[in-house]
Amino acid sequence: VSVKELTEESLARIEKMDGKVQAFLSTNGEQALAKAEELDNQPLEGRGPLFGLPIGLKDNIVTKGIVTTAASKMLEGFVPVYDATVVDKINEAGMVTIGKLNMDEFAMGSTTERSAFQTTHNPWNLDYVPGGSSGGSAAAVAAGEVAFALGSDTGGSVRQPAAFCGVVGMKPTYGRVSRSGLVAFASSLDQIGPITRNVEDNALLLSAIAGLDAKDSSTSPQAVPDFRAALTGDIKGLKIGVPAEYLGEGVSEEAKNAVLEALKVLESLGAEWEEVSLPHSKYASEVYYVISSSEASSNLARFDGIRYGYRAEGVKDLEELYARTRSEAFGNEVKKRILFGMYSLGAAQHGGLYVKSQKVRTLIAQDFATLFEKYDVIIGPSSATTAYKIGEKLEDPLTLYANDILTVPINLAGVPAISVPCGFSNGLPLGLQIIGKHYDEATLYKVAHAYE
Ligand code: GLN
Repeated sequence: VSVKELTEESLARIEKMDGKVQAFLSTNGEQALAKAEELDNQPLEGRGPLFGLPIGLKDNIVTKGIVTTAASKMLEGFVPVYDATVVDKINEAGMVTIGKLNMDEFAMGSTTERSAFQTTHNPWNLDYVPGGSSGGSAAAVAAGEVAFALGSDTGGSVRQPAAFCGVVGMKPTYGRVSRSGLVAFASSLDQIGPITRNVEDNALLLSAIAGLDAKDSSTSPQAVPDFRAALTGDIKGLKIGVPAEYLGEGVSEEAKNAVLEALKVLESLGAEWEEVSLPHSKYASEVYYVISSSEASSNLARFDGIRYGYRAEGVKDLEELYARTRSEAFGNEVKKRILFGMYSLGAAQHGGLYVKSQKVRTLIAQDFATLFEKYDVIIGPSSATTAYKIGEKLEDPLTLYANDILTVPINLAGVPAISVPCGFSNGLPLGLQIIGKHYDEATLYKVAHAYE
């Protein structure tokens, strides 16, 4: 098939499905078709494995000439003048960007209901959320609108929606993928990650987007392997640690049972598992919200009504311009986190809350380091439950924050983790989370592929 046909097929599927799923904030059909024609004229030799394949991008990844909103009124109509590094890389691979995907505003949330523009529905059951904050990315892949998407994961936002939508999502090692051109939420935690239907596609996409980037000084010079080469199916002798905390209080029976069933499969393939402990993970949620909100309050200071997007009208002075712009264009969840972040960093605390959280963060990271002296991977559920009903958790932010407990420790430690589908409960998917050593995404792909 030609690239043009593939592109048309994807656009047709979006036309058919997206009225219900509402994963896309915008599509760029004309540009995509023009690019497809250009690609069709390129010689066959030199085409890589991702050549000509359509991809959707979470709307906090900046795209030159294509509106990028981060699902916020603050950036409504904002057209970036450059491409994110990951966009340069998918272009080099010959992929075709089809559109921009819905998310919680500035990636703050777990349901995609915090988008300023629309609510995305879970393709498995439209009454349920797709998870978040990369809910548009996961739903678009699950609905077959695209086979490839990029999301971002600050505290679980690739893995949890992947689990809720029954697709594969990888949060790479901090520093593996450039954050240049990702609208920053919490800079010490954010990573862009691939969301795909299967493990092989995911491995291909990560190989394409990863690597050292002069525009992001936190990227690593470590060589990027061809992750597909890791998909050997051979996990004989693999040592798995299963944290008691990941199967304990707060984790539903169905999530727990799905993980135990998956462990049986891995055992039958020659792996061994033991119960272990991550003793400091119980503090992870609090630590995550202090650190991520503190960093967000600083990162979001740039939205002042002057440099980007929204600007309040009829103001009498600069002070009022700042105040009205920010109160009119930020949603409540975003405002709440900015206030909490400023409090954590500010005079009342002398920065004490932030500093103390960083110390506990080190303990959380050390828990992982200790386990990885003995185990190759750590396994647990990606989420404590299946997807929530739309509206169910809107007035219950504390439960949502608490439910991040299975994913945020991984971002705090900077290690990689993948979510792969592991069964269903009441017609809704569950995800298995496989956590690895720094820069050892290859082992995660190997295990996920052997299991899937
Ligand atoms: N649910 C978490 C939050 O609300 C994670 C978000 C994310 O990873 N971007 O902050």
